[in-house]
Amino acid sequence: MTTTTDPGTTVQGEIRMLIDGELTEARSGKRFDNLNPATEEVLGQVADASAEDADRAIAAARRAFDETSWSTDRALRRRCLEQLQAALEDEREALRTELVAEVGCPILLTYGPQLDEPLSDGLRWPAAMIDQFSWERDLPVGNAFGMRSWRKVLKEPVGVVGAIVPWNYPFEITVQKLGQALATGNTMVLKPAPDTPWNATRIGRLIAERTDIPAGVVNVVTSSDHQIGEQLVTDPRVDLISFTGSTATGRRIMEKGAPTLKRLFLELGGKSAQIILDDADFAATLPTSSFVCVHGGQGCAMLTRLLVPRSRYEEAIEIIAPGFETVGYGDPTDPSVIQGPQISARQRDRVLGYIDKGVEEGARLVCGGGRPAHLPRGFYVEPTLFADVDNSMTIAREEIFGPVLVVIPFEDDDDAVRIANDNEYGLSGGVTSGSEERAIAVARRIRAGTVGVNGGVFYGADAPFGGYKASGIGRQNGIEGFEQYLETKVLSGPAS
Ligand code: NAD
Repeated sequence: MTTTTDPGTTVQGEIRMLIDGELTEARSGKRFDNLNPATEEVLGQVADASAEDADRAIAAARRAFDETSWSTDRALRRRCLEQLQAALEDEREALRTELVAEVGCPILLTYGPQLDEPLSDGLRWPAAMIDQFSWERDLPVGNAFGMRSWRKVLKEPVGVVGAIVPWNYPFEITVQKLGQALATGNTMVLKPAPDTPWNATRIGRLIAERTDIPAGVVNVVTSSDHQIGEQLVTDPRVDLISFTGSTATGRRIMEKGAPTLKRLFLELGGKSAQIILDDADFAATLPTSSFVCVHGGQGCAMLTRLLVPRSRYEEAIEIIAPGFETVGYGDPTDPSVIQGPQISARQRDRVLGYIDKGVEEGARLVCGGGRPAHLPRGFYVEPTLFADVDNSMTIAREEIFGPVLVVIPFEDDDDAVRIANDNEYGLSGGVTSGSEERAIAVARRIRAGTVGVNGGVFYGADAPFGGYKASGIGRQNGIEGFEQYLETKVLSGPAS
């Protein structure tokens, strides 16, 4: 099913950044355009920061960390997170409209992971941890060097966090980084992706107008220039980079962060496998395979490789294909749509390039494969299904970040595990079987940070999310994520 209604919208986002407690334009006065990817129209502008603006933001965050009580005053932090939560809730509907316009995400998704779900726990869960977490613990009296000493382990904030965010789920990722970094007592410079700046500048405005967060604790810097992200990575005043984005950028951040021994937390790409075991109920399970098209496939944890038993391969393709013909795609403001546009012409062309490569390398194009003729405006790609895919093909190895599913045959459970793990990424996965026990046994063998069994969904602010291998280092969310924003200190003194 497709739709062609006009997603034209009149949202006007916040142009100003937040630097050192002030809502401000770039020093140069420059702005850049924010595009609606569903219409290709300019929604409005946002401040275009230069290195000078980023420098002011870093200096402010450093000063706020070193010279205010933010890092030690837990009660203040808790109150501020509650104020920000209330402010965001008051603007929930404006945020919803704005996210659909600038991200091109289906409005349906804003009732879930694009907005309502992170708004329900992204700040609240870390705020609750402020009271529940063990900030100090005692070790037994030690006797090193023959000296009896009491010993205490302290958890302290890392310092200044550079938070770098991608465009696909910008509000979710921003709120999760903010919640954990602030609850743990850090200060921050937040840099949204140039494609989706307004949700971040709105948060900046709300922080300035509606919370007691001291000046400099949170700075929001928007720029059309990716170098501003790199400036955060190379600046010695920044202690930790909390990055979500592509593996290529993650690698560069590690390299550029090395001279200052930057603490790094990297949430990167994926090419996750969904394994359908031979005893699974195909009729009940496979029609949902087109879920891979949700938000144009622009999700790092999408299960983009479908592994099915060779003995039932053609049967599987016949069940999967109709789902691809009926995906609701088009105008993201239409509540029946699950797939909107790609974020930009560049991303659309990148996806189309991968599709061409798949055909070139001998995969069978079953559905889609091009730009939809009935959607001349907007960066759309048809829901696309490939069969007869070998795991060595480019479309099976690389992250496409588009509405594209590749279906790969396997011989037995061992072969399925081998294929699932035969990829540089290790972000997520899924296993479906008539026996939960058998599915869990296979899931345990998948080298990935999250695995859903029989359709289980793991997301939540309490669930550590992240990747093995080239999918990243560290975890977003959960207590594992919380601790990444903390340093560890041991105090000791003579024991009586
Ligand atoms: P990207 O790496 O191009 O950009 C991400 C952010 O990094 C942007 O804010 C960008 O301005 C900034 N950036 C670019 N170059 C930089 C540099 N040299 N130094 C510092 N910052 C720099 O990624 P994208 O295209 O915006 O997002 C899509 C990618 O993000 C996909 O690969 C996807 O899998 C990944 N992603 C991962 C997760 C996860 O949790 N693992 C979640 C969402 C997206």
